[in-house]
Amino acid sequence: MLAPLCLVSEAAELAARRHAGQQRKGRGNEPYVNHLAEVASLLSAATEGTDAELVAAGWLHDTLEDTNTTHEELAEFFGLRVAGLVQECTDDMNLPKSERRWLQIVDCPHKSDSAKLIKIADKISNVRARIFPNPNDEQREELADYVAWAEQVVAGCRGGNAALDAMFDETVAHARATL
Ligand code: ZN
Repeated sequence: MLAPLCLVSEAAELAARRHAGQQRKGRGNEPYVNHLAEVASLLSAATEGTDAELVAAGWLHDTLEDTNTTHEELAEFFGLRVAGLVQECTDDMNLPKSERRWLQIVDCPHKSDSAKLIKIADKISNVRARIFPNPNDEQREELADYVAWAEQVVAGCRGGNAALDAMFDETVAHARATL
């Protein structure tokens, strides 16, 4: 088992390498790794640095969905809990987007407590990225649509960490104020 700081550092490095060249959706054309850093940081702050595996899973949460990383690899490098958490946060990309979105809403209440925290942190980061200071019609519509869906997903995930729940609500209020 890796020491906590090694686990988090190695997860960050693998995530950065695997997502190299990918851009995140939304404001500022940021590199994808910024999203992962934000999710990991939200999780670390919300749990006051007490759960290195959760933070590592935050860094890695999109590797199965968006890169050629495998569950076996994650289990070997980071252990079964981290690999399992990433798996829980992975959509089946063979399904159409509308179905994946619907499944997130219905599946979230059945996820593990730690996976629920990752889902909320992910939605906070994704809503933030869609907030523009002076949105055009398309940006406004995209944000309104994303927030409405994210609220339904998070409704089935909340209750495990008050700080993260409050951060999500603040982020949604801020988003709505720009609409
Ligand atoms: Zn994500």
